[in-house]
Amino acid sequence: MKQLYCISCPTGCLLSIIDSGVDCHVKGNACDMGLSFAKTEMRKPTRTLTTTVRTSIPGVPVLPVRTDGEIPKVKIDEAMRELNKIVVDRELDCGDTVLENVAGCGVRVIATSDALRQSNSKFDIQNQQLQIGEPVGGIQRNQDNTANKSGSEERSHVKTI
Ligand code: SF4
Repeated sequence: MKQLYCISCPTGCLLSIIDSGVDCHVKGNACDMGLSFAKTEMRKPTRTLTTTVRTSIPGVPVLPVRTDGEIPKVKIDEAMRELNKIVVDRELDCGDTVLENVAGCGVRVIATSDALRQSNSKFDIQNQQLQIGEPVGGIQRNQDNTANKSGSEERSHVKTI
């Protein structure tokens, strides 16, 4: 007999499973989803893989991603090896494809964040702010020629990007 917690919902029923090889006898499940989970877990366990990939976009070193569906648990290491080789070099929206057919599972990996798009917007805003003020000796000056104490920090931040 094997015992597993069902992860199909937050209740987390403790399932007791006896797998005869022909059929699974399950106890402890409060609903049919637990039965289905137990059978899948015993025969061909699957998971949604959630991780990050690197990017070459300034200010956004990593992008959160996930598989657009479940993949076999035994394929997770292979999927991670493929994802570790990826460096995103373009803007992506949440839901955009990062990798097709990960580990040959027929499942896409998609972005789960708009961080790249948001980063670009911030960069544009900062560039516009720099054009308004004139940087003097590392200190940003406002339009009324008063020194902006945070200007140098802002300027160096833009340089970093
Ligand atoms: S058996 Fe049903 S109620 Fe219990 S954790 Fe699984 S899905 Fe939730």
